Parts: sequence; C-alpha cells; structure tokens
Amino acid sequence: MSTAIALDGPAGAGKSSIARRAANELGYIYVDTGALYRTVGLAASLRGIEPVDSPEVDKLLSEIKVELTFNAQGEQIVLLDGRDVSGEIRTPEASMTASKISAIPAVRAYLLDLQRDMAKTNDVIMDGRDIGTVVLPDAKVKIFLTASPEARAQRRYKELIEKGMDVKYEDILQDVITRDYNDSHREIAPLKPAEGSVTVDTTELDFEQSVDKIISVIKENR
Ligand code: C5P
Repeated sequence: MSTAIALDGPAGAGKSSIARRAANELGYIYVDTGALYRTVGLAASLRGIEPVDSPEVDKLLSEIKVELTFNAQGEQIVLLDGRDVSGEIRTPEASMTASKISAIPAVRAYLLDLQRDMAKTNDVIMDGRDIGTVVLPDAKVKIFLTASPEARAQRRYKELIEKGMDVKYEDILQDVITRDYNDSHREIAPLKPAEGSVTVDTTELDFEQSVDKIISVIKENR
C-alpha cells in the first residue's frame, strides 16, 4: 500500500519548496498539482479560449492530453499533448489564468483521476488547495501549511527585490489578501483545513525549521 501525504495551504506559504525537500528526505514523490491547473490554463490561452465556464472549455478538455512524469532527478515534468510545458506554465500570466480556470467545475473533475492515480501507485507528498478535502480525503497525513499574510508578503517581496524588480510591499500584501479571499470563498473546493489535518504555521520559522517541522509531523502521523 502506498502512503499519501496531503499538503494544502494558501499561496506563498512555501509549500512547494518545503514539500520538495521533505519528499526528497523521506523518499516520497513530490506532486505539485498547481502545475496541472496551470497546464489546462496554458492550453486554453494557446487556443484563445477564455478561462470561464463554457462549452469551449468543455470541448478543450475533451481534446487535450495532460500527463505528469518525472525526470532522472525526480523533478516533476508536465506534458501537454506530449510536449514538456514545465517552464512555460511559470509566467505571471499563467498564474492568473490557472487561478481563473481552477474555479471551473469541469476542469477540477477532469484533473481529479490524474491526481488520484498518482497516489495509487506511489508514496506521495501532494501539494495543492483541496488535496486533503477532495482529492485524497483518506490521506494518511494531512497538513495545512500557512503563515500570516504579512510574513508571506514579506517573503515574496524579498524574492522579487532580489530579482531586481521594482515592487512595493503594500501592493504585494494587498495581492496576498485578495488571493486568500478568492481561494477560500470560491464555490467549488474552497481552501480550508481538511478534517483531521495538522496546521503548521511557518510565520516564525525559517526554511530549514519549516522542513524539519513538516518531516516530524509526517513521521509522527504516518
Ligand atoms: O500552486 P499554484 O500557484 O501553482 O496553483 C496555480 C493555481 O491553481 C492557483 O491559483 C490555485 O488556486 C489553483 N489550484 C487549485 N487546486 C489545487 C492546486 C492549485 O485550485 N489543488
């Protein structure tokens, strides 16, 4: 039997980098489900289809093929119709489209089996918004990873400044607050801690401390 760890939480809590490291240390596969929503969003953009609930999006879903694979380093690769789009899905436009398209019920239904199949055959740490609540409600360990909006905005601000971008902390904080509101108030699969989940708050923790904390929660509960 494979073991599944569900890791959910708001944008900017450090889920992907923390989960990637923890998975490495524990010998699990790290599955980033946001990449799947980003790929469906990219497919829509490439065909000029608006990311809204519509017959065009239904038709798109019946025509595209989205696959998850892993390279020799164990990094996740996402394929759209056989083409590696792992880099292309990381632009700010792709984030925005993913966020819109992920609110469409048909899109969520389309990606459900793909996510569940990954957990059937592998030990996984799966990162998303609804993994513990919808995708893997029977996951062995469910973690809700969060941090204060100010701490998340501060980390994002630092990242962007280091990349040489001209941004204001206040604007980033406002973005974080707006996205939190959208994610937790959408009708389908809203972001919330799953029943039986352990909440880990990284506001006062640095990266290494966060990884240690996640690993110890997994070891104690798996
Ligand atoms: O995590 P990431 O930022 O890559 O996710 C991209 C978008 O997909 C987010 O806006 C999020 O709302 C959505 N998403 C989702 N359910 C998931 C993973 C991501 O709705 N399980």
